[in-house]
Amino acid sequence: MTNEIRAAVLRGAEIHSRPFCYQCYETAPSGRCDRCGSDDLMRLVSSCGCEYGLDWVAEHLVSDRLTAVDVDAAFEESVAEIYPERVKIGWIEYDVALAIKELDPTSWRIAKSEWLDAEESGGALVTFDNGSTYYRVADVEQIIEELGPAP
Ligand SMILES: [Zn+2]
Repeated sequence: MTNEIRAAVLRGAEIHSRPFCYQCYETAPSGRCDRCGSDDLMRLVSSCGCEYGLDWVAEHLVSDRLTAVDVDAAFEESVAEIYPERVKIGWIEYDVALAIKELDPTSWRIAKSEWLDAEESGGALVTFDNGSTYYRVADVEQIIEELGPAP
């Protein structure tokens, strides 16, 4: 599911960028540089620059159209759904999620990263930059058609 979405966005990234030889500083539409013969090519997005790989193009296309998920807030919400009760410590009362976050930041961080993995493999969230930024798969689905052939 997430893989299909990723593949569709990467196809869009291919359409919206051109092979580019950085050495000769020109595009290489055939996939091999006409001037130097290199196939070690970057991808060029005219409005944005050039870099190796398609993932950054995908991230660029998606971030132009969608708001990234606030991962901290989303995880906090998910914990609050599982533990809706408040916890009493001595004379104070606290949300369980906030209590864990404040009292054991390490455990919180580990749980958050496990939650992220599960959200990603479960097809709810997708990243194009190795986990710096996440988007909702449902949102990305909405823009797939837009990422089709460039005008
Ligand atoms: Zn070249």
